[in-house]
Amino acid sequence: MRVGIGQDSHRFDFNDKSKKLILGGVVFDDCAPLEGNSDADVILHAITNAISGVTCVNILGKISDELCLDKGIKDSSVYLLEALKYLNDKKIVHVSISIECLVPKISPKIPDMRKSISNLLSITEDSIGITATTGEGLTQFGQGKGIQAFCCITVE
Ligand SMILES: [Zn+2]
Repeated sequence: MRVGIGQDSHRFDFNDKSKKLILGGVVFDDCAPLEGNSDADVILHAITNAISGVTCVNILGKISDELCLDKGIKDSSVYLLEALKYLNDKKIVHVSISIECLVPKISPKIPDMRKSISNLLSITEDSIGITATTGEGLTQFGQGKGIQAFCCITVE
């Protein structure tokens, strides 16, 4: 058995009206998008990093930059699928995700996000836990300037 940890954070781009906020592959309306070359899906990035924590093959950085900047692929699920390739015969048994932000309100979208992540990882929804907190506004994430996500992944 192995456990991987991944983290990511992005700031909101309040001036970008052309982009949507996407978290865990789910579109959130009525909220500013996150800044980044890709769709800036901070949750998929944290999951991708957690997978890299298990495979020891880093995707975010050089490989995702090549996909994004050279090939124009901004969909973060493509980076996630790239990370999955290196799991080989290892099977994901559980994913735990923790989000810190003031906005948007995460809890109403948790069922949609679990469904989306379950499809991407080919695991059941009851193997995906998602929690969210504002952290009492102690950090810039809790103050509404961006979103931070952590992910722990268990594989066997
Ligand atoms: Zn990111």
